[in-house]
Amino acid sequence: MNLPKTIRVGAIDYSVEKIGGLSANESMWGRILYGSTVIELEGALNDTKLRDVFAHELAHALLFEAGYEDHEEEQANRVGKVLAMMLRDNDFSFMRDKEGGEWAKN
Ligand SMILES: [Zn+2]
Repeated sequence: MNLPKTIRVGAIDYSVEKIGGLSANESMWGRILYGSTVIELEGALNDTKLRDVFAHELAHALLFEAGYEDHEEEQANRVGKVLAMMLRDNDFSFMRDKEGGEWAKN
């Protein structure tokens, strides 16, 4: 899986980094650092698990940037599960602006 180097959530660009040994001492496969705007993912994960963990951290980012700074872990769990499948099963390129800023008309 080719992860992006950065991903924009709201107005904020989060850098995405694979870290070897992130889960060495605890069962942590990913984490998000809101202050330094970094999403860290365990480098040893297979692609399906990586997608799941990445979507979970994106759900944290989405909730945080939407103003839910004190959201519960369960919210990120639930939103992350839907987000993973939504991002996998759809092509969102139609949402992008066309050249010159014109909204795509499909
Ligand atoms: Zn979490």
